Amino acid sequence: MIVDYATATDPGMVRTSNQDSLYADGKVFIIADGMGGHAGGDVASKLAVEALSEALAGGTSPEEAVSAANQRVFEAASREPALEGMGTTVTMAVVDDSSTSVEILNIGDSRAYLLSGGELSRVTSDHTFVQELVDAGSITEEQASTHRARHVLTRVLGIGTHVEADSYLVPVRDRDRLLLCSDGLVNEIPEKQIAELLAAGDLSTAAASLVDAANAAGGNDNTTVIVIQFSIAAQGIPVPPTGRIELTRTAIAPARPEPRALPHFSGQIPVPIPTQLVERSILTHPVVRLIGFLILLSVLLSAVILAVSIYVNHSFFVGVSRHQVTIYQGRVGGILWFKPHAVDYTGVRLDQLTQGLRDQILHGVVEPSLPKAKAFVHNIESQAKAAKVAAIPASFLVATA
Ligand code: MG
Repeated sequence: MIVDYATATDPGMVRTSNQDSLYADGKVFIIADGMGGHAGGDVASKLAVEALSEALAGGTSPEEAVSAANQRVFEAASREPALEGMGTTVTMAVVDDSSTSVEILNIGDSRAYLLSGGELSRVTSDHTFVQELVDAGSITEEQASTHRARHVLTRVLGIGTHVEADSYLVPVRDRDRLLLCSDGLVNEIPEKQIAELLAAGDLSTAAASLVDAANAAGGNDNTTVIVIQFSIAAQGIPVPPTGRIELTRTAIAPARPEPRALPHFSGQIPVPIPTQLVERSILTHPVVRLIGFLILLSVLLSAVILAVSIYVNHSFFVGVSRHQVTIYQGRVGGILWFKPHAVDYTGVRLDQLTQGLRDQILHGVVEPSLPKAKAFVHNIESQAKAAKVAAIPASFLVATA
């Protein structure tokens, strides 16, 4: 089976960064759509794609590669606080030269579609809250496409110690086209348009026109596509029977697929993990993040100002004003724009005091409360009377406030 392919990726019309990652080498094709903040989403999708491609190049099975990638992303998030909670979707196709089937693995809401005989079929099932509602018959596919919780994922690679991928074995015919795409495509344009663009022109044209169409429709998310075309007859491998291949999701991947041999991969669609629901698009939107940051900043500033105000209003010191000992409310020298103000001109003249007391008071004597400050003044007044110190030159007197 000969495989040709083309890829295209774009940050879209709204976002400044592209947190999608892709890999394609003719045998392995991967799309990962990261999440977890500005840094996290980018790192998660890149790490996942690296780990998957390395593991597959080393000869491991796709399922083992998924396990290795999950471990790498989870461990990186555990080591670095800024990356905590990061994760990624993964949709991966692995081509076997000797087979006319393609193995596809999926975690999250990136998708795989097969265009065969002019008809588009969705291969993967999204791991989203709304997909569960669709599967349960609670809402239609059309309602799901506009549901406000459509971005809530129920399965993500890298946010736990273990993750299971859905696995599909997809039979392909000569000239069939397989599309892997991130949700930036399917959230912007309908499947009918996807089918038309996927079929038109060469592979590079198809890939570019899909991304362009997503951007033209709004481009609210990063969009990434890999378009793959199979040539089977050219290599003499038996071609599947002619006629339309029935390709419903249940045909290629039963709702409860047969368990596979690998011990860590049950092949069954696991129960979603409600505690790990991840709302991706709203919380990571730059404007929402900026507003959140500004609100947090204003709350913190208000708290600091309130704390300083309380601190200042409960602070007193004994200083000098108008050549007499004066009690001030506030801190010596002031804090921010909270300047100290006189609350009691005591009538005790500075020149009545000893040199040591004058020096202390000129620098400000801090007292924990107004009564304590008054007690201090009363005390030095008593000392002054006892000492009967001589008056000092007025030029010595310096006001502290
Ligand atoms: Mg996306």
